[in-house]
Amino acid sequence: MKRKRFLLHIYPSYLLIIIVSLIAATYYSSNYYRKFFLQQTYEDLKSRGELLKYGIRDLISYPASLDQFCKQTGKDSSTRITVILPDGVVIADSKEDPANMENHKHRPELIDAFKGNVSSISRFSDTLKKEMMYVALPIGRNHVVRAVIRTSISISVIHNKVGQVRYQVAVYCFFIAMFASVIAFFISKKITQPIEEMTKGAEYFSNGDLSRKLVIPDSKEMADLAQAMNSMASQLDDKIKTTIKQKNELDSVLSSMQEGVIALDQDNAIISINPSAASIFHVKPKDVRGFSIEESIRNHSLLKFIADAAKSQTPIERDVMIYDNTNKRIVYIHSAPLMDAEKKTIGLLVILNDVTKLRQLQNIRQDFAANVSHEIKTPLTSIKGFIETLLNESNISEEERDRFYSVIERNVSRLNAIIEDLLHLSQIEQIEDKNQLTLIETDLADVITNAVQACTEKANEKDITIEKNQRSETTIKADPQLIEQAMINLIDNAIKYSHEKSHIIVESQTGESEAILKVSDNGPGIAQEHLNRLFERFYRVDKGRSRKLGGTGLGLAIVKHIVMAHNGRINVESQLEKGSTFSISLPF
Ligand code: ADP
Repeated sequence: MKRKRFLLHIYPSYLLIIIVSLIAATYYSSNYYRKFFLQQTYEDLKSRGELLKYGIRDLISYPASLDQFCKQTGKDSSTRITVILPDGVVIADSKEDPANMENHKHRPELIDAFKGNVSSISRFSDTLKKEMMYVALPIGRNHVVRAVIRTSISISVIHNKVGQVRYQVAVYCFFIAMFASVIAFFISKKITQPIEEMTKGAEYFSNGDLSRKLVIPDSKEMADLAQAMNSMASQLDDKIKTTIKQKNELDSVLSSMQEGVIALDQDNAIISINPSAASIFHVKPKDVRGFSIEESIRNHSLLKFIADAAKSQTPIERDVMIYDNTNKRIVYIHSAPLMDAEKKTIGLLVILNDVTKLRQLQNIRQDFAANVSHEIKTPLTSIKGFIETLLNESNISEEERDRFYSVIERNVSRLNAIIEDLLHLSQIEQIEDKNQLTLIETDLADVITNAVQACTEKANEKDITIEKNQRSETTIKADPQLIEQAMINLIDNAIKYSHEKSHIIVESQTGESEAILKVSDNGPGIAQEHLNRLFERFYRVDKGRSRKLGGTGLGLAIVKHIVMAHNGRINVESQLEKGSTFSISLPF
């Protein structure tokens, strides 16, 4: 609805009041003048009648003289004078011949006068065809009315005069109204202007410009209102700033949290979702905020968890699987009721932790414990079996006995090797965890020379040649013994798994920010599916072959941890029947 300005409400009202007042004043004053003139005329006619009364009484018995007297006096005083006997017969008249005049017995002004009272009336005269005022006075003695004298005058003059007065008053009033309307306009403007200014100010407030201050008007009420609005705006400004600050703090806390957080209302609409939670489900927070979780995140396990959490009165927790493309992730979810300041439940808080790595580590740890037990149990069972045989069987040949002892000795060595490798691995892990590496300037040429030397005997046994290829002299900050150990493990594997009379290349290269050590062989190679797991403890491509060759399954795990302790990387490239290349990259 289109609303009128306040000025257009107030100004026409003022105008109406002015116009009505002036019309009323004009009407009242003209009426007053009319009554005043009529009263004056009445008094005048009555006085004239009183003055003539005695002269006429003396002439009643002489109608001709009386008529003459009336005509003369009426002419002199511009008054019509008529004398009427109690039977209504007109015996004298200043204007007409009484003989021609009809009986006046029933004239209203005369009826009362015949009873002895002074009476008057204003009416239209049939004789003179004019509006006349008549005043009738009784003439007589001792309450006996002998005749009635009637004085009359035309009152159309009065009407004209009253009309003139009314016209003049109306003209004055018109000018007064014009003047008053201008004044009323300025008064209206003065009243509405501060309101208009305050309305403008309130519009600024509603557009968010709360720092603006309203001008304080002169009038007390308006000044109080402006001050109240200014203080309201500044309080609102403070509150909004505090709320924004709190929201920003909360947002930054939620944004920097590793855990995913989703807050839902009681209808399961998303109140808030932090970037971690959004990235787990590949959605954008701004796209899903305010929408129901069912239509925003289509993950059956999560939705089932939310449904269960909503039913349950207490917090619940569980691991759920999330599949995206080919990846599987494990997310640990727990719920808590969402409360308002009065501790009233207003929804549900869902907290998500990506525990894929943790669970993998837990699995690795469990696998490791099982693997260690298994690796130790196999030689132990064998040792136990042969010892029991040696103890229980009396007729064992010398030759057989020696064979048994050598099997026991081999298994003991195997156990020893496993335990030594495990101890070694745990020492490296400790160094890695505590960052306790003793770094010294290490010449990689020396490392290669020492490692190759340590493996020469084994290589010779299989008639394998080892080629050293150093493209540049490189020194690096490292723990030389550990790096040497890593290289020995790699060269040892290359010798172990390569065919007799094959060739191994050990080389060092210098990259932009790292030194690279490589061990390449042209042995049997490793199938692609094993490459990812090769560095896990006890992982072997061919268990039987590894055991037969005296492998513990820990060699590459030790290499990996040595490299990690140096913040380096390890890589393997291999092709079946063509050979393998293991490379260690160490940052300068
Ligand atoms: P192991 O003691 O069994 O050698 P490692 O951890 O050193 O244990 O090696 C793990 C597995 O990787 C080995 O069992 C073997 O199957 C494979 N492997 C390691 N090095 C080579 C290599 N140079 N050529 C072929 N296979 C290899």
